[in-house]
Amino acid sequence: MRISDLLRYSAHRAPDAEALWFNERTYTYRQLYDQVCRLANGLRERASPGDRVAILAENSPEYVLSYYGVPLAGMGLVFLNYRLSEREINDVLTDAEPTILITESAYLDTARAALVGVESVHTLVTIDAAAAGTTHFAELLREPPMKEPDTGDDELAWLIYTSGTTGRPKGAVLTHRNVTAAACNSAMSWEADPGGSPATLFPWPLCHIAGYGVLVAHLRLHRIVLLRRYDPATFLAEVPHHRITHTTVAPTMLALLLRHPDIDKHDLSSVVRIGYGSAPMPAQTLRDAMRRFPTAGFQTGFGMTELGGNVLYHTMADHVSAIEGRTELLTSVGKPMALAAVKVVDEQGNEVPRGVVGELVISGEQVAVRYWRRPDASAETFRDGWLHTGDLATQDENGYFYIVDRKKDMVLTGGENVYSREVEEILHQHPSVAAAAIVGQPDEVWGERVVAVVEGNPAGAVSETEIIEYCKQHLAGYKCPRTVIEVAELPRNTVGKILKRQVREQLTAE
Ligand code: ATP
Ligand code: MG
Repeated sequence: MRISDLLRYSAHRAPDAEALWFNERTYTYRQLYDQVCRLANGLRERASPGDRVAILAENSPEYVLSYYGVPLAGMGLVFLNYRLSEREINDVLTDAEPTILITESAYLDTARAALVGVESVHTLVTIDAAAAGTTHFAELLREPPMKEPDTGDDELAWLIYTSGTTGRPKGAVLTHRNVTAAACNSAMSWEADPGGSPATLFPWPLCHIAGYGVLVAHLRLHRIVLLRRYDPATFLAEVPHHRITHTTVAPTMLALLLRHPDIDKHDLSSVVRIGYGSAPMPAQTLRDAMRRFPTAGFQTGFGMTELGGNVLYHTMADHVSAIEGRTELLTSVGKPMALAAVKVVDEQGNEVPRGVVGELVISGEQVAVRYWRRPDASAETFRDGWLHTGDLATQDENGYFYIVDRKKDMVLTGGENVYSREVEEILHQHPSVAAAAIVGQPDEVWGERVVAVVEGNPAGAVSETEIIEYCKQHLAGYKCPRTVIEVAELPRNTVGKILKRQVREQLTAE
């Protein structure tokens, strides 16, 4: 199955249903699929199967067309994170060697600067407005629709770089098989839709792997309301305007929403399901959100770029039982979806007993085949038929998985393992802390020292001694930070994930 087949089937099932809304522009399923097939043909006029097409843009319908149309043409879509610097974009372009770069006015200067020295790109396409020396996206749609797709399931469809939380971003090679498996896995696992017409509000940047949610929503025949980018005020206004039933958010998006002064002014009662994931969700944020959205069921997803989407999930029933007493479930990432095998292993690859911490490993059709041009990283991650996630996890006696920490974020102090995430959970409960990152710093006596870097709440000043004392009340002494450093803003990626590698680098630079 090819990525575009997901949309083809939906277009047959519900040709006249609305598939996409973006700033008053709408597409039915039939129209969207027709445009996808035209795009594929337009690309074939300008590049060859096996080529790569990169995209540097914020969200738009053209981005969605590229999701399906570039792979349909037999080309790989390279997702460029628009928050990256010109130099970082240049690195990705040099690595991925696309022949076409799609961008938009707002990023044209960045694109031109990032293209210096990149010889592979021969065509620059602009989405929104024609510009000198570029091809307008609309020109790509002038060709008649492609009739007979000839792309194999195991060809590169999406080349997405990981978030770069732990090191240099790696390009995950996702084939048609991987992405369709990820989409089908989630579509099967989501709770049944209520009656009426489901509408998904989509606030994620499409350059992030979370964009696979568009494929899932289309498989489920949802109407997608696409935001150009996330901002809490627009989010709150669009919910009642479109009678939004479904949405998915990153923990930071939810935290910003809950803090927005206008949250009480909007009717949010149409929402029946809120998915969340991509980073650890502070239990307190989740509790607050459940109170704010009383009509909504919450559902978590654990995923990775290398998985084309999510692989573990938590049902709404799990959340309800968490509220009714099984509070530990709030911090769990749930159980494997139907189409994947998940286990926790030791250094030798043997499965560990329940309750013991080990590395989370995953196998299934959605697991990327390798990293792009990174044989060493590929050999380390894709081993013995399992994707080694680099996440430390446990499984409880009922089969629920818990992410304990990233292997690389664990602090080793005086021979003891400190899981940064456990300490961060406590810090998040402190009233003067808005966000926190725990990192290890070299220490002559202890090997590593636990350091907390925190963003303060506007409401209260951060006092180092008070925070250390607070931690001591809730945690064993060796887990408590020795130093608390307050910063105006922690470094974050496009979806609000704290980039610990940069936190560490900033500390070393000081
Ligand atoms: P890099 O691999 O470049 O260091 P990254 O791992 O952050 O960056 P992504 O693929 O975007 O890049 O993120 C996957 C990781 O995000 C997982 O390995 C896990 O650590 C974390 N993650 C994803 N979903 C969840 C979740 N629901 N709860 C906790 N952690 C999550
Ligand atoms: Mg990773």
